[in-house]
Amino acid sequence: AKQEGRNTYRLFKAEMHRQDHHNLALETALRNTAESGEGLSVHYQPLFDRDSGSLQGAEALLRWTHPDFGTVSPGEFIPLAERSGLILPLGRRLMQLVGGQLRDWLDAGLAPPRVAINLSARQFWQSDLVAEVADLYATYRLPAGQIGFELTESTLLDKHQQAAATLEALRTLGCYIAIDDFGTGYSSLSYLQELPVTSLKLDRSFIHGLGQSRGSTAILAAVTGLARELGLQVVAEGVETEAQLAALGEYHVTLIQGFLTGRPVPADAFAAAYLAREPQ
Ligand code: C2E
Ligand code: CA
Ligand code: CA
Ligand code: CA
Repeated sequence: AKQEGRNTYRLFKAEMHRQDHHNLALETALRNTAESGEGLSVHYQPLFDRDSGSLQGAEALLRWTHPDFGTVSPGEFIPLAERSGLILPLGRRLMQLVGGQLRDWLDAGLAPPRVAINLSARQFWQSDLVAEVADLYATYRLPAGQIGFELTESTLLDKHQQAAATLEALRTLGCYIAIDDFGTGYSSLSYLQELPVTSLKLDRSFIHGLGQSRGSTAILAAVTGLARELGLQVVAEGVETEAQLAALGEYHVTLIQGFLTGRPVPADAFAAAYLAREPQ
């Protein structure tokens, strides 16, 4: 048994070593990508108003394809980018891609909806974020309100007074602000009234439980009640079924994002499917 244990340990060490090696290679590749921009693209997922059926927004989601590693999922490369700090140059690239895309659509006479960009903690707390966003609006001559941000509770909670100042500056630039993955974090709700946010985005894991667990419905009731009191919009992400849509409807959640209404797709497909020409 002792021998077996030792072998298992050796296997475990070998596996760890292989993992480290893989992560290191991936990080090196990601560093090169951040520098060159090669292999990065953006997918856009629509957000609809369920009652009117109108397009209310899109979420920009980063995609990475590498010649050796193939398409790496954001679930893998985003945490790596956050740990290594590469999220800063990658985030800057994403903003440029989104800004350029919006300008192209506007120039083509299309009417793109507001686009939401995800910000991780490191991006939010970098000192020049507000200047970078102001620069983005200026460079691509974007109309006020064209861009917004999604942030998680954990990003905002520790230093919420400082967070409020940055959010206020972003709001002044015409950005809307959503709390992403709402319902999964600390949910210390009192901070909400001190932060100038505009919406709450209910987490996918939580939408998944609707119609299955009574807990999810209870939370939905509480969150929508709170949002109404505070004058915040509620958005549901990860809506996959008609049953979930119906459950959300009962609590008057009308802003819907998910595979049921539209998957994330490349910019051209997004324009072809959802963007109409501005009436002349
Ligand atoms: P997120 O911000 O919660 O984004 C929503 C994720 O749910 C996206 O995964 C989207 O493709 C997926 N999704 C949307 N609707 C459905 C649905 O109906 N069912 C299911 N099962 N999934 C759905 P994705 O694109 O893989 O992104 C994963 C995470 O990576 C994002 O979670 C976000 O935290 C992060 N991420 C993606 N792009 C960026 C970025 O540009 N910057 C930063 N900082 N993070 C990003
Ligand atoms: Ca998001
Ligand atoms: Ca989310
Ligand atoms: Ca999520």
